[in-house]
Amino acid sequence: MVGQENYEKAFERLRKSRFRSRFHLSDSDRSYIAEKGMETIRRHCEDFVRTRLAPANPPNDGRQTPMRGHPVFVAQHACACCCRGCLAKWWKVPRGVEIPAARQQGIVDFLMAWIALDL
Ligand SMILES: [Zn+2]
Repeated sequence: MVGQENYEKAFERLRKSRFRSRFHLSDSDRSYIAEKGMETIRRHCEDFVRTRLAPANPPNDGRQTPMRGHPVFVAQHACACCCRGCLAKWWKVPRGVEIPAARQQGIVDFLMAWIALDL
């Protein structure tokens, strides 16, 4: 996972947040996923995490993740993986240092699990 918790516990925590639990895939997210397939969505997710979250000081940090427009963006808000501030607060990912590849993969797996669950 992103932190030490298992998915079930993590999703339970997120469900208790009024803000986080508001986010769900839209009809256009669903048709986009159906059209592209989960493997492509995962590749997009890996790219977003690597370029928008993983750098020590990501560009525009705090505002780098739109509220809609891609299923991964929605998942990022639902999962509190939208910026380094939220990653630090929710999942204790240290700020100011690059996120190691293994932890990036953990974030991607977590986001993809949320997408699969919300579909
Ligand atoms: Zn955030």
